[in-house]
Amino acid sequence: MASKGDNVAVCNMKLERLLSMKGGKGQDSYANNSQAQAMHARSMLHLLEETLDNVHLNTSASPPPFTAVDLGCSSGANTVHIIDFIVKHISKRFDSAGIDPPEFTAFFADLPSNDFNTLFQLLPPLVSNSCMEECLAADGNRSYFVAGVPGSFYRRLFPARTIDFFHSAFSLHWLSQVPESVTDRRSAAYNRGRVFIHGAGEKTTTAYKRQFQADLAEFLRARAAEVKRGGAMFLVCLGRTSLDPTDQGGAGLLFGTHFQDAWDDLVHEGLVAAEKRDGFNIPVYAPSLQDFKEVVEANGSFAIEKLVVYKGGSPLVVSEPDDASEVGRAFASSCRSVAGVLVEAHIGEELSNELFSRIERRATSHAKDVLVNLQFFHIVASLSFT
Ligand code: SAH
Repeated sequence: MASKGDNVAVCNMKLERLLSMKGGKGQDSYANNSQAQAMHARSMLHLLEETLDNVHLNTSASPPPFTAVDLGCSSGANTVHIIDFIVKHISKRFDSAGIDPPEFTAFFADLPSNDFNTLFQLLPPLVSNSCMEECLAADGNRSYFVAGVPGSFYRRLFPARTIDFFHSAFSLHWLSQVPESVTDRRSAAYNRGRVFIHGAGEKTTTAYKRQFQADLAEFLRARAAEVKRGGAMFLVCLGRTSLDPTDQGGAGLLFGTHFQDAWDDLVHEGLVAAEKRDGFNIPVYAPSLQDFKEVVEANGSFAIEKLVVYKGGSPLVVSEPDDASEVGRAFASSCRSVAGVLVEAHIGEELSNELFSRIERRATSHAKDVLVNLQFFHIVASLSFT
């Protein structure tokens, strides 16, 4: 087993070159651990529909393709279902207006380390020689053209005024970076002893909040340039109901309890130095409605059609809720599918295995509490651009 001295060097690579959900289709992959997100997305489809109903339709004689983007698509089936839903809904709107639908283009956008290969293999077939109208009519076929777009959504990704609709689910709580002051030992915002801001000091949480708001401002600035007039956005990210940012709600329980305790285990067992642990921070911030609203209003480019906190529920899908070991395994897999890549970059695979097995053990012995209390809330924003 690796000892303290064997820790891999901290990689200073920028987060956007590194971050991804766990690729492939294995036990800890995002594709295999995102059924809860799928369920939460399904429960919000009526809100997505409302937003799609606000999008201006180009009813000219030969309109350009209707262009939809999923930002932070990751590599599971969720994004494919969402794009399919968007295309079908917009198509229906054209049909009910008695107009032939245009062609559709769908862009799947995520950071460059995202497993686009797994995603592309999940796409429904584009049947050769059949026209888009036939594909739209037939279930199971792909009725849109596709491209993958690698890059951070905190910057421009598309040419000006080319996009009709932006969708983004469960992604905007990922910051562009851990604020530098949080891992700087000389700073008052240094997050000593912690790997997340849940329960952290005020200076640390303020640094996180500023980072979130600066990032969201960049996001909105980029989208305001790219979206067509009459276009719209549907954004969903982790949120919290408490005004106090040190209470990160579901995200706090995921990264602030058993995850935190397992890091502490490694430190107490002499496997990881305390400073090494403190150099690791989860770059996630679950905003309050107010945190989010302030930025949209300051940006001023988008009208707020709807901005609500929505109860998503548990991120865990378990078939036997009374089976503590299944709950513990689901908790560890869920945690690893989203944070595993970052943990491995920080302490290497071997210590990462040690960490996640401790997380599993701890979550197993608190299975009931995990099932009841690990609940996610989401900020849902429906924005239009006029
Ligand atoms: N939308 C999917 C996946 C959400 S997982 C679903 O509904 O299941 C969050 C995704 O956001 C990850 O794939 C992550 O790589 C992506 N992400 C995080 N920060 C990003 C950024 N700055 N730019 C683009 N994608 C980002």
